[in-house]
Amino acid sequence: MKVLVYSTHGFEKDFLINANQNKHELFFTSEQLNENTAALSNSFDAIALFSSDNANAKSIQELKINGVKYITLRSVGYDHVDINTAKSNGIKIANVPAYSPQAIAEHAVALLMALNRKIIPAQKLMRKNDFRLDKLIGFDLYKKTVGIVGTGKIGAAFSRIMKGFGCNLVAYDIYENQELIKETGITYTSLQNLCNQADVVAVFCPLTPQTKYLFNKESFNWMKPNALFINVARGGVVNTRDMIDALNTHKFAQAGLDVYENEKPIFFKNHKTKPVDELFDELKNHPNVLITGHQAFLTQEALSQIAQTTIDNLDQWGKLGESENEI
Ligand code: NAD
Repeated sequence: MKVLVYSTHGFEKDFLINANQNKHELFFTSEQLNENTAALSNSFDAIALFSSDNANAKSIQELKINGVKYITLRSVGYDHVDINTAKSNGIKIANVPAYSPQAIAEHAVALLMALNRKIIPAQKLMRKNDFRLDKLIGFDLYKKTVGIVGTGKIGAAFSRIMKGFGCNLVAYDIYENQELIKETGITYTSLQNLCNQADVVAVFCPLTPQTKYLFNKESFNWMKPNALFINVARGGVVNTRDMIDALNTHKFAQAGLDVYENEKPIFFKNHKTKPVDELFDELKNHPNVLITGHQAFLTQEALSQIAQTTIDNLDQWGKLGESENEI
């Protein structure tokens, strides 16, 4: 198949080339898919998208005119694709349903530990030859309560790690993960109860119409004043304005984030001039916020699995006209 790989990044290109083994004709572009760049897809059978691409209705209609039949997503999440429009235009979509959930869970733990034990402020003080410890006090995670919102693959991996730390686990999800209950003793409760009890609230649910702004003024008000909040799922699950206001009024203590609701024009590139987004400036400069630029998936294992499933999806479409990972 002739495939256009949109939003290609340096960190993934070699993994894709290795997984492909010259089976498909891969063309790489750093352009993001949107209604202005959809024209590049002319004469391609398939396109491969990154989570920062925007396959909205207009882009999809242009893809259809250009003869694109398949969209393979280099991500678990598919909130950046108008699935209904794609389906009604006969375009098939497949994702990477699972790739090293541990990669994302471990990054959540990295954010949690760095925040709690003040690793970044400590490093800054050390470089200034200031070895005072007065502002670097954290708390033991042992016997603390960790609230996990979304106990799918990544939430479950995070739960197991937190169990290893000796934490009590509570969860909120629309489905109970029976295996996880047996394995870790996690108990399910309402979101409000979870926020009331938890010393750490960590979010691993997808962005859907139901989870958009699940964390807002009301839910941040439910949290404990010393609690830490971790979000490595999707930025849109959190109302950023409400989160900053809640931090400023001490509704909870600190936030560790890998995602931001308006991240698409900002993340994954080196900006020659500072991006214009006052809300993001406020967020990234906030003393009680630690933020990384959507890098929770960035391990060798995860990149290799993403590349392999992307190529497997193309192989199956090429041979059978359908893929086991279709959405
Ligand atoms: P998953 O499908 O295995 O688990 C998602 C869980 O969320 C499920 O248990 C589901 O029941 C639950 N859920 C769905 N709607 C809910 C709701 N309204 N309220 C509460 N819970 C709800 O997915 P996963 O592999 O664990 O991935 C979770 C999310 O993590 C993805 O959708 C993606 O957005 C995000 N993610 C981020 C990165 C990153 O690099 N930062 C990488 C991969 C995935």
